[in-house]
Amino acid sequence: MRRKLVVGNWKMHGSLAQNKTLLTDCITKLAPLNNADYAVCVPFPYLQQAQSLLQNTNIAWGAQNIGKFATGAYTGEVSVGMLKDFDCQYTIIGHSERNTAYCESDENIAAKFMMAKNASITPILCVGETLIEREAGVMYHVVAKQIDTIIALHGATVFANAVISYEPIWAIGTGLAANPEQAQTMHEFIRNKISALDFAAANGLKILYGGSLNPQNALQLLVMPDIDGGLIGRCSLNANDFEGICSVAQSI
Ligand code: PEP
Repeated sequence: MRRKLVVGNWKMHGSLAQNKTLLTDCITKLAPLNNADYAVCVPFPYLQQAQSLLQNTNIAWGAQNIGKFATGAYTGEVSVGMLKDFDCQYTIIGHSERNTAYCESDENIAAKFMMAKNASITPILCVGETLIEREAGVMYHVVAKQIDTIIALHGATVFANAVISYEPIWAIGTGLAANPEQAQTMHEFIRNKISALDFAAANGLKILYGGSLNPQNALQLLVMPDIDGGLIGRCSLNANDFEGICSVAQSI
């Protein structure tokens, strides 16, 4: 069985003072949990704070995006090498909030995914459909296309030791999570798709679920065979809620 992974996505929230309280509380609450992996993806300016507070704990840290180039005249971008300077273990790639607001193409996302992989930072690739796409019944097609760009450019083997997060856009921040069957069916679809090309990569790939995951619905979702953990937005900003989800992951 794959070890569960729970990752907080703080989005554009926090301050030095708030983060200190939140991280200190999370460190205390998560310290006894050793049966799953935990991480928080924080805004860039707080990477140093996360590194300094979280080193030597069981909570890893990472970023929410990276630039697609290694270095150069790209004003406002942050390179993967800069994340390495702060010992980041993860970076989110292709979150739908970025794709919508900054028009990220699948090709850009593929380039960022490879940047992270090549720097030994685990990419957390977000995929998912809109409500209109689900209602039209094209959600598998949409998610397949998001993954296919990476496969076409780099092959399926690059998913070995990577993370995909299935995040139906209609479930993010809405309080309306996918039900366990909807999520499991999509996770199985993703794993089978990669498995058809590289069984070992698919078997080791962690597929997280994201979208209004909370301590109340965590068990029914995380117990599903192809759901290997969660990407958590709102509930990662509250230490009790985050611990509630992490404890569920620990217990499975
Ligand atoms: C997210 O944005 O990655 C997310 C899952 O948010 P929320 O948990 O708030 O729905």
